[in-house]
Amino acid sequence: MNRRKFIKGAAVAGGATAVAASNFPAPAIAQSRIDIAMVATWGRDFPGLGTGAQRFAKRLSDMTDGRMNVKYYAANERVKAFDSFDEVASGNAQMYHAADYYWKGKHPGWAYFTAVPFGFVFSEINSWINFGGGQELWDELAASFGLKCLPCGNTGVQMGGWFRKEINSPDDLKGLKMRIPGLGGDVMAKLGASPVSLPGGQIYENLMSGAIDATEWVGPWNDSFYKFYEAAKYYYYPGMHEPASMLSLGMNKSWWDGLSNSDQLIITAAAHTENDVMMAEYNAKNGSSLDKLIREQGVQLRVFNDDVYDAFGEAAEEVFSEARAHSNLANRIHASFVKTRQDVGRWMNISDQEYLRQRNRVLGVS
Ligand code: CA
Repeated sequence: MNRRKFIKGAAVAGGATAVAASNFPAPAIAQSRIDIAMVATWGRDFPGLGTGAQRFAKRLSDMTDGRMNVKYYAANERVKAFDSFDEVASGNAQMYHAADYYWKGKHPGWAYFTAVPFGFVFSEINSWINFGGGQELWDELAASFGLKCLPCGNTGVQMGGWFRKEINSPDDLKGLKMRIPGLGGDVMAKLGASPVSLPGGQIYENLMSGAIDATEWVGPWNDSFYKFYEAAKYYYYPGMHEPASMLSLGMNKSWWDGLSNSDQLIITAAAHTENDVMMAEYNAKNGSSLDKLIREQGVQLRVFNDDVYDAFGEAAEEVFSEARAHSNLANRIHASFVKTRQDVGRWMNISDQEYLRQRNRVLGVS
């Protein structure tokens, strides 16, 4: 509403309102420009992850008519992908866009704010962050490294990965060198595989050269761009390791604390928007991309059987007990995660899961 009209209307409305209107502050003087350097762990224009981060950067600039002037640097344009954390924690840059489980070597708690084995799907992690105490625990963890983080994208349920051979029993995982980050990699290690963490841009060459035997990345839409099918035809689902990877907008905490409340709210709104939009894009594009991979590239779709999944489950419990033993904070993050998984998971079971099962059965959606 036009401010002058509002004041006029308020004055007509009479007594108390008119007094309130006369107490309106003078129009704010133009706030000064805020230059923001934003680094990312994704290659320039990489679909979904990279384009989502770039879309966020543009949105933030557009929402403020350029007052927040975001200069975006893809991986290697300013620092290497995995140096994004230090670049922002040190204050050299103000923001990063990343998957926080890349930092699990610094503290296992970070993994919970991307995805953990047998963790949350998209709607569940949003419930945890917004209503289950997740954001507060993330704030506590991030503050101890000089950071403030917000949800800023999600890939949804990821695929289990690309394998050169079929995985019919847990024994088939033994000795596999697999690119799989986060606690999911630790689960694979318990089952005798050798997990490695590589940025997306380095996976293809390592898979083609035989330096690794298998890899996970994201899902059909993203994975098709990296052509993993040229080296590994078996494409397994569902990934136990990343049921909904939340991406993070990480910010230097001193810089964040110095912003006005309204600027913090603008950044939060822009990040939460990207959290939803990115998820929508993945869901819109994964199905048709999977069809294309099967039809045009001869990709063999396989589902992990119950034996393999049971082994994943047992190994995940061992990994969790090690993560919890790390520190009081890791233990509290885990306990909060488990509580929400039980509370919201029970509801998902009788809502989304059962509805989708019946709808797709009746209509033959497959
Ligand atoms: Ca992944």
